[in-house]
Amino acid sequence: MAHVLVTGGTGFLGSHTIAQLLTAGHTVTTTVRSLTRRTDVERMLIAAGSPHADAVSYVEADLTSDRGWDRAVAGADYVLHVASPFPGARPKNEDEVIVPARDGALRVLRAARGAGVRRTVLTSSFAAVGYGHGRTGRTFSEDDWTQTDGPGVSAYVKSKAVAERAAWAFVESEGGGLELTVVNPVGIFGPVLGPDYSASIRIIHAMLTGGMRAAPPIWTNTVDVRDAADLHLRAMTAPQAAGQRYLALAGEPISFHHIALALRTRLGEAAAKAPTGSAPAWLLRLLATVNPALRETVPQLGVVRRASNAKARKELDWAPRSNEDAVVATAESLVRLGLLSG
Ligand code: NAP
Repeated sequence: MAHVLVTGGTGFLGSHTIAQLLTAGHTVTTTVRSLTRRTDVERMLIAAGSPHADAVSYVEADLTSDRGWDRAVAGADYVLHVASPFPGARPKNEDEVIVPARDGALRVLRAARGAGVRRTVLTSSFAAVGYGHGRTGRTFSEDDWTQTDGPGVSAYVKSKAVAERAAWAFVESEGGGLELTVVNPVGIFGPVLGPDYSASIRIIHAMLTGGMRAAPPIWTNTVDVRDAADLHLRAMTAPQAAGQRYLALAGEPISFHHIALALRTRLGEAAAKAPTGSAPAWLLRLLATVNPALRETVPQLGVVRRASNAKARKELDWAPRSNEDAVVATAESLVRLGLLSG
């Protein structure tokens, strides 16, 4: 069994990843921006059914500062660097997300190298793979990189591509014996463990609460958070994963319309407010001229990004749940935890 540092224990993916590590018998240190969040993390671990939720060590560290990182990595065999800014809204200045993502990854890698960590698994994103290519019918793979100067590239998307590039460059030039493996998840769904849930969950929240009256013509890829966490654990120890990237997705893209349909079919009355109709793209483009919140979605209208999960399936024996199971699990957890008001 190993000792593992997971950065960002307060996060959606971070908390599920810690839960799986504990279940597998590993010991865990996690970083939080403030130690006051410790009980929130413990509650989420209990909600995940994790044993020994009280056996996690906590270190205060922020991606924007050097403080705490050496202490966090001390004694770690592996580091799972999950933390990164994932804002729900467009930042005023793109450096608000790019700088912490990039410099934070470099801080973590530097500390890991210094502490003699065997391997770091970096949570990157499909945002570092399949954006900025315009409309294309191709199927993206781990060989692809986002074109950060291409169309429709948000600050967040850029932050993930820039941070991952910087991580590979660091390990290549200064990594010493440190191995790097990267996981590139698409939109993460699956069960939330508490009220501070990730921005990706808002789509399901909006559908269940009537905040999305009609489904926009948007397609997304999904992965269940439990499968994304599982892939991190496989990427952590599989010898063949050293120096590799792995896309984490359920399969084919799913439209918002189909997500709404899956919620209605599988949740019944609890999903009565999920949209039944679709909103035409022209109407959304028009509304976006007066509604800034809609502007980020305009470049995504009608864009279908296909990607392959064959590499993770083949090399790491990874078997993810379906799109429908992932989004339904999100909805069921929001209902179960009473998180549909507000
Ligand atoms: P999340 O719930 O918002 O978690 C983000 C985590 O990063 C939180 O623990 C947050 O801490 C931490 N963080 C943010 N800025 C930080 C900073 N300056 N210093 C230290 N910690 C900081 O989102 P998530 O979905 O779990 O995301 C986890 C990872 O998966 C991220 O790397 C994200 O880019 C990636 N990802 C997410 C999705 C998705 O659809 N959710 C898809 C692909 C990749 P606080 O709680 O203190 O804010």
